[in-house]
Amino acid sequence: MAVAAAEPADVGAPAAHAGLIGLSRPELAQVVRGLGERERTVPLRARQLWHWLYHRGVTDPALMTTLPVALRERLAERYRIARPVVVDDQASVDGTRKWLLRFADGREVETVYIPEPARGALCISTQVGCSLSCSFCHTGTMPLVRNLGADEILAQVMVARDALGEWPTPSGARQLSHIVVMGMGEPLLNFAQTARALRIAMDADGLAFARRRITLSTSGIVPKIEACGRELGVSLAISLHAVRDELRDQLVPINRKWNIAALLEACRAYARQCDRAITFEYVMLDGLNDADADARELVRLIRGIPAKVNLIPFNPWPGAPYRCAPPERIAAFAAIVSRAGYPAPVRTPRGSDILAACGQLKTASERRRRASIAA
Ligand code: SAH
Ligand code: SF4
Repeated sequence: MAVAAAEPADVGAPAAHAGLIGLSRPELAQVVRGLGERERTVPLRARQLWHWLYHRGVTDPALMTTLPVALRERLAERYRIARPVVVDDQASVDGTRKWLLRFADGREVETVYIPEPARGALCISTQVGCSLSCSFCHTGTMPLVRNLGADEILAQVMVARDALGEWPTPSGARQLSHIVVMGMGEPLLNFAQTARALRIAMDADGLAFARRRITLSTSGIVPKIEACGRELGVSLAISLHAVRDELRDQLVPINRKWNIAALLEACRAYARQCDRAITFEYVMLDGLNDADADARELVRLIRGIPAKVNLIPFNPWPGAPYRCAPPERIAAFAAIVSRAGYPAPVRTPRGSDILAACGQLKTASERRRRASIAA
């Protein structure tokens, strides 16, 4: 299987954009300076602009009433704040929502909002496709098309905020309270753009997501895990899925490059570095990784790491070579892990009627497009 593409370097390049979204605070100051603002007022104007973009969610400079009219006009002439096109907006019977977004170059990604009684999480994508070919993941059957830019990663959050009517950023309870970087793509193979986007998402005068409310999921790009802790300090989820290298090599081929021992060492260090529990994700595959012995081995492997284990029932897709483990097997597995002192919730599949569950993203829209071309 092709693991050569999985170098820790970022792959591909974001599409060219002349937008304001995704720029850092110093870069926004540079924009304002370039539009002729006097040096003395540049910091104030940059702060105000930031506030309009990320706290108020305004997309038209004409509405930025604290900025001088001339500056608003020059912004409108030279810069874009527009959101990507929302090509499709679907709602599941369980309240899950899915948006298909189209970017300037015509590439598309899907973003999923998952409401729960006391919180709401947005599952965002970081790449169009994925280079890693995990054998149980439908996204992995698509080639990597390109990385998303920071603007395109942030746009997913901002479109969701638009749709939920959550501007300005609420100070209290929010419908959109958490971000999970668990959509299409491997975020640590697009780390620079992902980090840029998440730093903006965490800014207190803006989207204001606390770092503990952001979870980044990785298949195990070990050399980038330390940088993720140092630069972002967000919650980390690891797609473990197997407790023996032989099986993990098949399920998550990047394991051939960074094996379970190396991955767990990086997790130990991350937990210390960020003083944070690690979430291990474990997809339940019938007869492959779901035995009691696997659960016991899992507990042995993660001993000493503050952790929780998310058990994910496998979501089947056409042609998938696996079946989901039966519910009683999942329950027995969960019981062993939780008896050892680790929370082991079983993730309820959400939004499967609109093809929004794990591993179903984008492929659905591709299938629809292929069907319409064939018609
Ligand atoms: N590339 C990152 C993040 C995106 S995948 C990663 O692999 O962690 C998000 C989660 O969905 C991962 O834990 C992944 O293993 C899981 N997943 C993928 N396909 C799935 C499927 N068909 N059923 C259940 N979970 C799946
Ligand atoms: Fe890529 Fe994650 Fe799917 Fe593996 S599970 S193919 S890393 S998106």
